[in-house]
Amino acid sequence: MPVSEVMEYVLASICQPGDNSAVVFEADDTRNWEQETLNSFVADGVLKQYKPAVTVTCRGCDRLCRRPVVRLTAINGKPARRFITCPYFDQVATMNIQEQRVRRWRSSIYRLAVYVSDALGLPKPKPSRTKGEVHVGQIRGPNGRRKVKLVNNGKLVLQVGEGSVALSDVMFLDDNALHIRTEEIWAIADEERSGATEKSYEPCKTKQKENKSATETRDHNILREARWLKRVNPDWNRKRIIAEIAKQPFAQRTSGERKHLSVGRIEPILSGKS
Ligand SMILES: [Zn+2]
Repeated sequence: MPVSEVMEYVLASICQPGDNSAVVFEADDTRNWEQETLNSFVADGVLKQYKPAVTVTCRGCDRLCRRPVVRLTAINGKPARRFITCPYFDQVATMNIQEQRVRRWRSSIYRLAVYVSDALGLPKPKPSRTKGEVHVGQIRGPNGRRKVKLVNNGKLVLQVGEGSVALSDVMFLDDNALHIRTEEIWAIADEERSGATEKSYEPCKTKQKENKSATETRDHNILREARWLKRVNPDWNRKRIIAEIAKQPFAQRTSGERKHLSVGRIEPILSGKS
């Protein structure tokens, strides 16, 4: 299997059961992968080591028969070994099975959802009771909050508010390491809502917002802008972010004349000490 197809293969396999149940990958399924690719899936938690296989596919005959693995423990100075026997193979009665061949890994939609939530900086999602979908969390863009869900529609789709993207379009392997284009997920979250279908989304919050004083609204905007700036410019430090916010029209005194807040006044707002 070419490296370029590994990601598609993993996502398609996880999709297969149609619900949230675990999928098991055997050593034979991953035998053409680079070791680093496998390591990356395990390190990122998408694959988790599972108990060894009790049967393997026979390579002795041409029937691809499934044979039980017999395991002999070390005895009388002879090392432990595993083997299978195949009734369709007439030359050798037994075939040794190396430890690597019985290795297995487990994955599921939930494991993928945890990976996505972690990449988005969200808390770990709860396991889902709904078949074929996991609630990843909520992300906040300039146009409000968006629910993020990982759904099995025959393929794995990430729903972000009203928008969606196939997981295979944003998850990829580069240099045998697993990556996800979170900026594309944020971009969907930042889109304006097309209709009023989600208007009943957070009615209480909307009400609260109306009642907020001008200062509260301004501070809220400053915090939101700071988070937004940090997201689009991950290398900016706090000082740079504050300097940028100070230029914004909403960062002004809320009483008296229109005058911008100083850098020293923005700092405590960001620290929650205003
Ligand atoms: Zn066989």
